[in-house]
Amino acid sequence: MKPWTLTLAGLTLAGLLSISSLPEPAVAAPAPAEAPRLVVLVAVDQMRYDYLPRFASGFTAGFRRLMQDGAVFTNAHLGHYPSVTAVGHSAMLTGAPPSISGIVGNDWYDRALRRNVTSVEDPGTQILGAGAATGSSPHRLRGSTVADELKMAHPGSRVVSVSHKDRSAILMAGRRADLALWWDTKTGAFVSSTWYAPELPKWASTFNAGRPADAWLGREWRAVGEGGQPGPVLGTLPAAPGPAYYGNLYSTAFGNELLVSLAEAALEGEKLGSRGTTDVLALSFSCNDAVGHDKGPHSAEIRDITVRTDLALDRLLAAIDRRVGLARTVVVLTADHGVAPVPEQMTAWKMPGGRLSRTDLEKSVTAALERAFGPGAWLEGRAGSALYLNQALIAERGLDPATVERRAAAGAEAVAPVWRAYTRTQLLEGRVPPDPWSRRVLLSFHRERGGDVEVLFEPYWMSGTSGTTHGTPFSYDTHIPLMVMGPGIRPGHQDRPVVLNDLAPTLATLLGVETPSGASGQALPELLERGGSGPR
Ligand SMILES: [Zn+2]
Repeated sequence: MKPWTLTLAGLTLAGLLSISSLPEPAVAAPAPAEAPRLVVLVAVDQMRYDYLPRFASGFTAGFRRLMQDGAVFTNAHLGHYPSVTAVGHSAMLTGAPPSISGIVGNDWYDRALRRNVTSVEDPGTQILGAGAATGSSPHRLRGSTVADELKMAHPGSRVVSVSHKDRSAILMAGRRADLALWWDTKTGAFVSSTWYAPELPKWASTFNAGRPADAWLGREWRAVGEGGQPGPVLGTLPAAPGPAYYGNLYSTAFGNELLVSLAEAALEGEKLGSRGTTDVLALSFSCNDAVGHDKGPHSAEIRDITVRTDLALDRLLAAIDRRVGLARTVVVLTADHGVAPVPEQMTAWKMPGGRLSRTDLEKSVTAALERAFGPGAWLEGRAGSALYLNQALIAERGLDPATVERRAAAGAEAVAPVWRAYTRTQLLEGRVPPDPWSRRVLLSFHRERGGDVEVLFEPYWMSGTSGTTHGTPFSYDTHIPLMVMGPGIRPGHQDRPVVLNDLAPTLATLLGVETPSGASGQALPELLERGGSGPR
């Protein structure tokens, strides 16, 4: 059934009510507007909200259009922890925190397998488009996305998701997506997995066969200067195709242009938005993340890739307008997380922060446990900020797990820039300080996949010996752009605090489909126009 035909059920109900001799409404209901033909979710991997005002003078196209014609939330934050790619992308259309989506990080320690697993690796699938290899899928994602709900309500809807990263493409779309494509930096081709189909669709194979990734061989990355003047050279790509070239391409603004070309091919190949029902196209630009990790949020490179993302976005919007019409398309732009400034730059600015050795941290934890409970292999696993204790050893020694966790946490907190260590028992019992950072950690703790101790550093501190990173519950990592434009959307800037988890219930309301199963946010009323396109 087409989404907007649901309104007919409402008319029938009105008819039934009038039969039971209720008074006729004084004013007839307005004719329902047409439902959107296409929902386009654009994610920028690692984009802080402050890039919009800070780089505004460089925007001429995509971001500028969304900022002018869209609903813009100036205080949108991630409501979850940790602020990493897999979790952020999974939250966009599920609206769910890790405690229920099960996506607790880019990877985590699997106690049954006794090793780390990524959020999307799936030995039950094979890669499509790059020789024989194990594939990836959303099989670890627990719950539905807006796209899944749309497909359950309207089986004719098609859902396609593209990114450079597998976890981004896969976790944005959900379990019922028709296709997710991601980039293989070894071959320069876009690949998928047998979760979606037995083979790549012909249009995707044709796209790969044209070797579009090779268009920038030997190219200089020159910044877009002020006033249209060419800026400084920020890098030069290798001249020969191969993993070194593709890896470099991934760390430049050109990689995003390649992804827009793929999105255009998907619009055409899948006839998205052109088949009389609502389709979904999700797209995540990963190159911004690669540049940001390397150079930081205050670099010429991050300014330039953001300005060039504005141009890439414009190309995408123009393609959608040609094929579908922007008047029939809801466009969302957001990000999976922000990023911290580079510690050395912060030191030069007389700001706090620095680098911490994870090995030293673990030594302190192990020493505290050995002092209290004797020698033993107390630490079994680690992933992100989580430490996984040896639960078999704790049981074997007849110890109380909560006591051991607390002792390990104290060992972590003895290291100077550690801000807080939360224990498994503390999080499961909800005993955390009443502040927004603890709330993010609490909402995100997953009983099965979470660790035994979550170690958080003070703001601006990180492990890692170069560049910068993200992952904390602090503003520089959680404050993201959230802009929505299209039919049924009331434009305007909104300053009240909202969370990324509000997006999924908002889109579900707009499309007249069930709210995704784990959504913890609330529909954003200031964005939804009365009498808009969705059934009411
Ligand atoms: Zn990311």
